[in-house]
Amino acid sequence: MKYLTESLSSLRNNIKHCKSCHNISDVEICEICANPKRDKELICVVEDIRDVMAIENTAQFKGLYHVLGGKISPMEGVGPQNLTIESLINKVKSGKIKELVFALSSTMEGDTTNFYIFKQIENFDVQISTIARGIAVGDEIEYADEITLGRSILNRIPYENSLKH
Ligand SMILES: [Zn+2]
Repeated sequence: MKYLTESLSSLRNNIKHCKSCHNISDVEICEICANPKRDKELICVVEDIRDVMAIENTAQFKGLYHVLGGKISPMEGVGPQNLTIESLINKVKSGKIKELVFALSSTMEGDTTNFYIFKQIENFDVQISTIARGIAVGDEIEYADEITLGRSILNRIPYENSLKH
């Protein structure tokens, strides 16, 4: 039993995250970030690794990801400081990012998180878009089927337009 407990805790301690996108990775910079064929100026902002896998399955997105590690949720005591938002903002401030695509689920927490990030970076020279809301409102994005999700990424709209209705 002691052996089992020890090996479980060593397993947990060995989970590492990519230093750039915070995706789970056993190397410092994950396969996606290290791939020279990916567009490093295009970043898709997602909640967690399941979203990365869902979007990768569509094979429609050629940029990189930024994994927030959750959504802002005052009810659950999750604030911006609990997520990787600061590191995302620093990436935008570096001036190397042309476009951010919000791909959080369209729940109140998702909307709050998008808006918070938007407010931090709206004065920087970066295009901000959001995946089309053709996918059912309130659905977590990992449940959307691949074709619908792939299309909603290709047909993304400027974020500011999504605020008007
Ligand atoms: Zn990465």
